[in-house]
Amino acid sequence: MDYDSNKFQKMLKNLIDEAKKNLPKVDEDLISRAFYYSLEAHKNEIRASGEPYITHPYEVALIVAEEFPVDDVTVASALLHDVAEDTDFKIDTIKKEFGNEIAEIVDGVTKISDIFRGHEITKAENYHKFLLSIIKDIRVILVKFADRLHNMNTLEYVNPDKQRRIALETLEIYAPLAHRFGLGKIKWELEDLAFKFLNREAYEDLARKLQSKRKDRENYIKKFSAPIIEKLKEYNIKYELSGRPKHFYSIYLKMIKRNKPFEEIYDLFAVRIIIDSDDPSSCYTVLGIINLIYLPVQDRFKDYIALPKTNNYQSIHTTVVGPEGRLVEVQIRTKKMHEVAEKGFAAHWKYKENKTTTDKDVENWVNWIREIFENTNRDDQRRDLIDNFKLNLYQNEVYVFTPKGDLKRLPQGSTPVDFAFEIHSKIGEHCIGAKIDGKIVPLDTQLKSGDQVEIITSKNHHPNKNWLKFVKTSKAKNEIKKWINKEEQNLIQKGKEIWERKLKKLKLNFSNEDLMKIIHTHKYDNSKQFFKAIAQGLLNIDDILTVKQEKEDKEKQKEIQFNKFANSLRGEIGGILVDGKKSSILYTYAKCCNPIPGDPVIGFITVGEGIKIHRKNCNNLINLSISDSSKLVNVQWPETENNLFVVGILIRGQDRPGLLNDISHSIVTYQNTNIKSININTQDSSFEGNVAFYVQNLEHLNRIIERLKKISGVTSVERFESALQ
Ligand code: MN
Repeated sequence: MDYDSNKFQKMLKNLIDEAKKNLPKVDEDLISRAFYYSLEAHKNEIRASGEPYITHPYEVALIVAEEFPVDDVTVASALLHDVAEDTDFKIDTIKKEFGNEIAEIVDGVTKISDIFRGHEITKAENYHKFLLSIIKDIRVILVKFADRLHNMNTLEYVNPDKQRRIALETLEIYAPLAHRFGLGKIKWELEDLAFKFLNREAYEDLARKLQSKRKDRENYIKKFSAPIIEKLKEYNIKYELSGRPKHFYSIYLKMIKRNKPFEEIYDLFAVRIIIDSDDPSSCYTVLGIINLIYLPVQDRFKDYIALPKTNNYQSIHTTVVGPEGRLVEVQIRTKKMHEVAEKGFAAHWKYKENKTTTDKDVENWVNWIREIFENTNRDDQRRDLIDNFKLNLYQNEVYVFTPKGDLKRLPQGSTPVDFAFEIHSKIGEHCIGAKIDGKIVPLDTQLKSGDQVEIITSKNHHPNKNWLKFVKTSKAKNEIKKWINKEEQNLIQKGKEIWERKLKKLKLNFSNEDLMKIIHTHKYDNSKQFFKAIAQGLLNIDDILTVKQEKEDKEKQKEIQFNKFANSLRGEIGGILVDGKKSSILYTYAKCCNPIPGDPVIGFITVGEGIKIHRKNCNNLINLSISDSSKLVNVQWPETENNLFVVGILIRGQDRPGLLNDISHSIVTYQNTNIKSININTQDSSFEGNVAFYVQNLEHLNRIIERLKKISGVTSVERFESALQ
């Protein structure tokens, strides 16, 4: 090949000129060497277009110099990017010739091409590889973007099958990725090109329509802009004003998503004002000027300068009512913001004060990329990778519309409930249903970009705990929780009031302990849950109180019964002996332990009540004697005939014919003693009774108790003692 041919010299000169225009420092010799090396390596190849292969790396390098003006090394790497892949020249020779840095970028581009092929990148391990390679050197992905853009620009020369495959890959992988990197211009170009090859009919139809409207449109923009331009001149603001270019694919998507004809979508005019100043405050000055001339539309104002998008996009968006009442969207931004919007982080390099690339800069960029991916893909192992990949690249947001056409931005996965709370907390609180594009949908439906959402409200409807399972925005979550809390507090209060009113009405006394017992009997953890259940009607207060009252009545009954029993025994035996003798000293039986004949007893001298007779093991007595043991008096029950004493037992079980007989038989016949009294109550199929009989000693009693326990139907046998014990 003739290296000196005019054509190649011209190409090289053009490339170097372009690089010099955009880069602070250009090693002309490096670019020249890379150009001729590539030319030599590819000398036997031709492109599908029939042109020499060098046109491809050359165009890619040109795109890099224009769109990603990072450094001359990237430009040289772009020239060499296909050498290792397509020719006999290996990475090692590139390394020898151009050094490590360039060799690694070229190697990275080669490897990344493999990863990108088909949907390989959506496999976890390849995705990981990809992340590693771009973290290592971001320039790899920039060259790859430029490579893909040029391939898309020349796609018409390859066969239709390949066209489709490459176009799809571009739309699904490269365009979202470009967006993620903040490379707005590349993203739109890739999308429009992919669209053209994937749906040529729709593309050409759109192109025709755009063309036919062009004159109208230009005239209108002129009319709209004239008063603004006048004012800008007055304020001495340097600017560039243009009717914003509309991207085919975005118009097409809008038509599909909103199911509206081209005319309606395209009716929204758009103007962009780029200010020739680095001072963001000038954007607000321009905004003020525009608002002086045209009426702004409420809720259509977005300040991405104060709050940049996740990919660092900055701009002011406002919509105003233009001549003839037509809506015009105006974007206002500085030149720098515009470059960032179009060229992503490559633009930051250009605007750095110190125009050399240092390790620190690379580190910053790498950290930025790492952050994007780590924040969005932490659990990519678990989720469906391909969906996740696309989803995360297209920001984590959906754009939906109110019935009036106002745009709302929500996190991906948001539902009509999120949307409702986004509009107003009152709308969310009374939300009962939703329509998407006029059709009723479940409240947990995930919204998609372009959906028009209408919320149906009802005064009597309120947030539901289940909503927390599907809402995405923290606003909705907080509002729902707040509401549930408030409602719970109200319920608890209401339940408490019902409870207290009832107690008052029934004149019942309830200690805190009584209440806690009841709460636990009914298996509630705390009083809040208990009161809530009452308010919700889950617990019948009357039932609880009847049980409590019955229990109290029963205990009272038992106490009366026992007192009667104890008094009769005491009377029968002839009272107590003080120090072995019948005594005239006043004595009474202590209510705390209610001793009966047979119990070991002791006396305690009191003021006014004579000697109190306690059981020896009475807790009360033990406490009293600790404080004053001198007041203890020796007392005994008188001896009975045969040294027998009376005991009472309480017996419970299931009633059956012949039971009473079995009980008395067990006591009298087997244990050789006499029953003093027997008292059985049956209720439904169960019985409860007490039996008093004579025993010789404790062992005798225990034998009888064991005997009674063996009777079929008997479930419990215990000594009949005061309920107070
Ligand atoms: Mn290539």
